[in-house]
Amino acid sequence: MSDIPNYYSGQPPLNRLSFQRPHADILNRHLETKGAQFTLYKNGSVLIHKGKTGSTLFVTYDVVKPLIGGGFQNPPATVTDPRKAKVFESTRLPNTLPSVVFLGLDERGHEQSGDLENPTGTPYFAVDATTLEWDPEAVGGEWGDARANGSVMTPWEAGVFALSRHLIDWNWRNKFCPACGSQTYSLWGGWKRACITAVEPIEGKEPCFSTTGLHNFAYPRTDPVIIMGILNDAGTHMLLGRQKSWPKGMYSCLAGFIEPGESFEDAVRREVYEEAGIEVGPVRYSSSQPWPYPANVMVGCFGRAKDGQTIRLDLDNELEDAQFFPRELVRAVASTKAGTTFTREDLKQFDNAALDEQAHGHHGALAKQDRAEKENPYADFTRVPPETAIAGQLMRLWANGAEGLDIVSRL
Ligand SMILES: [Zn+2]
Repeated sequence: MSDIPNYYSGQPPLNRLSFQRPHADILNRHLETKGAQFTLYKNGSVLIHKGKTGSTLFVTYDVVKPLIGGGFQNPPATVTDPRKAKVFESTRLPNTLPSVVFLGLDERGHEQSGDLENPTGTPYFAVDATTLEWDPEAVGGEWGDARANGSVMTPWEAGVFALSRHLIDWNWRNKFCPACGSQTYSLWGGWKRACITAVEPIEGKEPCFSTTGLHNFAYPRTDPVIIMGILNDAGTHMLLGRQKSWPKGMYSCLAGFIEPGESFEDAVRREVYEEAGIEVGPVRYSSSQPWPYPANVMVGCFGRAKDGQTIRLDLDNELEDAQFFPRELVRAVASTKAGTTFTREDLKQFDNAALDEQAHGHHGALAKQDRAEKENPYADFTRVPPETAIAGQLMRLWANGAEGLDIVSRL
């Protein structure tokens, strides 16, 4: 992983060629390109080689062709107004067809002529097989749990996985128009959805207002989450917390969803104040990470707490515990195998905790601990997030960094 700053990112695996998405002819040519690769999903699980966790099984067009009901469609000949034609660009109609998403070209091993508009490479697509009667045994595959497989792929495959799962999931969850409740359909090679009334007006009914103006399409959604490496004023300790539902001994960086009307910095300060009662001064962006469970981008930041404050957890009761942990201890825990090994069950616990918070808001509601009475206030801290999570990266960057405490001096 040394060549990428964060798992799922840092080495864009494909040239996405977004400007080709409206052109059905180009996308159909990619579909039929010899060697084109397809990654398949069913109910959010990814097709893998049977018995090989983390090994994506890409299939060829001859496997998916009988299943997907054709390629992408151009505007009908009867639609001559270019503005009207826009709602017909690279569609998949009727909208009962399975989702097919053009992901981009893998340019590795392909010599380029310098034509940026038409680079050469192996086309990649994602297909949602959820509604298909198809047995993966036929190609020596099986459906693999997304979280368990997605976290142990090669970095390149993980990048394709993050992109494809995010889009398949988004198409699957957005089958109805948020403005009028009609069904939606796919266009732009799987990268947009729009209200079906744009292409099939309902007689006697006003056109749905989503079909006019700037917001006439639904775009894939990415929900930003800030992950905070908050240091004490001297930079010698990092603020880490744990939720009750997490695996035993696990502490991590504080984190939270960015709310409307907030910058990264605002969100960091608000979350740390709400979760731990700590006011934060300077904040700096560090790096980010796509997180396809289902649709997040994690924004890693460092921040420096103001001096002389006391942690309190009772404001939003989200955390069971939070403390400033010394650098040597974080480094020591992060360097042990036991401290960084997670089972599938552990990962599920994390996911459930995150979903629960999204769905129901904060509900930690736990008794405050009196740390003064404890002999070793750090005794419960035995595990940190893996390197594949950005919180794990922030902690290691600070704890192991050759530059020592330089991070805080730059805040
Ligand atoms: Zn509508």
